[in-house]
Amino acid sequence: MGSPRLREVFARIDSALSRGRLPVCVFDLDSTLFSTAPRNLQILREFARAHAAKHPELTAIAARMTAEDMGWNVHDDLAKAGVRDPALLAAVREFWAERFFRDEYLLHDHEVPGAAAFVERCHTQGALIYYLTGRHVGGMEIGTVQSLRKHGFPFWRGRCVLHLKPDFEMNDKAFKDDAIDDIRSYRGEVVASFENEPGNANMFLAAFPDALHVLLQTIHSPGAEPPRPELILTPDFLMR
Ligand SMILES: [Mg+2]
Repeated sequence: MGSPRLREVFARIDSALSRGRLPVCVFDLDSTLFSTAPRNLQILREFARAHAAKHPELTAIAARMTAEDMGWNVHDDLAKAGVRDPALLAAVREFWAERFFRDEYLLHDHEVPGAAAFVERCHTQGALIYYLTGRHVGGMEIGTVQSLRKHGFPFWRGRCVLHLKPDFEMNDKAFKDDAIDDIRSYRGEVVASFENEPGNANMFLAAFPDALHVLLQTIHSPGAEPPRPELILTPDFLMR
């Protein structure tokens, strides 16, 4: 169940509108609106199939693993499942990197529970929806839009922005830091941001101290900085 404080976002949208301001809600995608675990699992299973002749043990391991076993790195997940061969773990890392950042694989993602209905309600109520993602232009943009629409997230209807990283190489945090200027250019009122990376959520809190900042308790990168106590923690978007 989501944090009871999620409802405050709707009150903030109303409040901004009543003062003649454009409410802006900023949503990260991976591990915030979408669970990437099914994408990781799909890639692992393809790897197991491709290497079944040389490594028959992978077939049983991959069949046993579920989306719940997927953490930040597929090679770590596989190591936890019992694979010890360093060359094989290095091969899965490479196989994963060739697929994870591609349009067609994005369609395996699942919605974080309640996410589409939550974003839809923010949009219907009058907020500008600003999707801000470290996914890059040049391989992920089409799949991103298809995935948003497949799960019923608002798009194509005005008041929806999709901002992707201009190229793969750019650092995610630096990109999001730069994006703050673009968000400000709408001259609206940022009412809420949603992130799974504590460092990014802390950054949004510093940039927009009067807004609500929600940290999704899904997965985050290893060694992430500690979340600020002002952040609202929630496992999903389901409302009581
Ligand atoms: Mg994310």
